[in-house]
Amino acid sequence: MLIRIRNAQIVAPQTGAQADETVDASGLVAMAGGIDIHSHIAGANVNTARLMLPEHHRAHVRRPVETPLSQVGWTTFETGRLYAEMGFTTVVEPAVAPHHALHAHLELADTPIIDKAILAILGNDDFVLDLMRSGDGPNAIRDHVAWILETTRALGIKVVNAGGVAAFKDNIRSFSFDEVVPYYGVTSRAIVKALQKAVHEVGVPHPLHVHCNNLGLPGNFETALMTIVAAEDLPLHLAHLQFYGYGKEGPQSFSSTAPQLAEAVNAAKTVTIDVGQVMFGQTVTISSDVLRQFSARGQARPKKYAIIDGDSNGAGIVPYEYRAGSFHNAVQFAVGLELFLLIDDPWRVFFTTDHPNGAPFTAYPEIFALLMDKDRRAQWASRLPAEALAVTTLPSLTREYTLSEIATMTRAAPAKLLGLADRGHLGAGARADIALYRPGKDIAQMFRAAARVYKDGELVVRDGEVTRLRFGRALHATPVVEAAMRRRMTEYYDARYGLPSDLMRVPDGAIGRAEPFEAVACAS
Ligand SMILES: [Zn+2]
Repeated sequence: MLIRIRNAQIVAPQTGAQADETVDASGLVAMAGGIDIHSHIAGANVNTARLMLPEHHRAHVRRPVETPLSQVGWTTFETGRLYAEMGFTTVVEPAVAPHHALHAHLELADTPIIDKAILAILGNDDFVLDLMRSGDGPNAIRDHVAWILETTRALGIKVVNAGGVAAFKDNIRSFSFDEVVPYYGVTSRAIVKALQKAVHEVGVPHPLHVHCNNLGLPGNFETALMTIVAAEDLPLHLAHLQFYGYGKEGPQSFSSTAPQLAEAVNAAKTVTIDVGQVMFGQTVTISSDVLRQFSARGQARPKKYAIIDGDSNGAGIVPYEYRAGSFHNAVQFAVGLELFLLIDDPWRVFFTTDHPNGAPFTAYPEIFALLMDKDRRAQWASRLPAEALAVTTLPSLTREYTLSEIATMTRAAPAKLLGLADRGHLGAGARADIALYRPGKDIAQMFRAAARVYKDGELVVRDGEVTRLRFGRALHATPVVEAAMRRRMTEYYDARYGLPSDLMRVPDGAIGRAEPFEAVACAS
């Protein structure tokens, strides 16, 4: 197979146009560059985690025993390098508080090779909740969403434990989909629905990205089911669904409900999900779900944590070690794989570990292998407590992903979900982001070290090693912003903080490099 590149784009062989380069992919597996829709690689929360765990991110000092966490390196440089070596060329940092957008963009700009994007968090902030309380109407929320996207240069909007994090500020320690946020008098359901509609009406390609209430709790599948049903006929994306796949059955009142969730997702055609697969080893949980992280602080391994309340969502950083011998962790491992294997449509189930919450992104190759090989899954399962497996359906699942399904799930589908028409495929007009893998019996090894990777048509990886450093761009949505909302935000920030609303703006010149940004059109 020959792939012809001209001006950083793939051109059809029959056009007759002179190619700058012809890539010979004979004998190799050729895919578009991988796209990761949810990986915490930059921003304030990630930096708090780095500061808390220096022992795991000495990229320049090889520890005698490498932990899964130390393998990711933790620097911007290592993040870009390791993603590229696996053939990934676009990564979305999914949780940036608007006030921290400039910091996140500066850090992403320092991350080599890959293109990147941020999702801005709304839905626990005073401005949106106050719009809802005062009955200001959906148009105001829509206009605010547009203003936030433009100001922070985000590709989409995320809501994290909608209303729950706001309620946490009132000393509330558990919060469900139909509970009411004190003072504001709105439910989680109402916040999710309002933002879902606003994002849709602004024309943002990526639907509202939802981190549901009750993450991690036994019985929380009912919260996820309610959220799935609430999507109705508008698009909605549910993040890291694995963390919501828990029932209360079995000897430890903790069981897999992945089959119920998968059935609901299969039926809800406007809903997409990503998995947030858990793998065993040391990691750190990084989340804007302060309520959840506050509750989980007692489970910190090692015993240190940071809970930061204040601005809107705040953050909770809790280190954690998933253990194969733990009943709970074994069930979590199974739930993730069950979701992958029981959701039929690879266009609607996305590949994530919620890096680093379920596992560092360097675990991806091993997970691809688990999805493609049921014998490998059986080997892993044999290490797990039998009573844990008994409250899951994992041992009965025989499906094996094909390479084509892996390519859909990690390339074509995320490109579509994010509105990036020039990515995720190798057809004419596609951006020349290309990953070539050497097929072999060891699937994990194949995906761990790409044979060659091209970014914008330039060879950046050969035989699993970065050979050329370059820098990508930040993708951001470009909605129409109403002048009235600009004035309103100026007044709000002045009245509330005595600060200009531009304090969170990411200006053109913020990154000292030519073309650091790339606009993604919104539907009008
Ligand atoms: Zn996440």
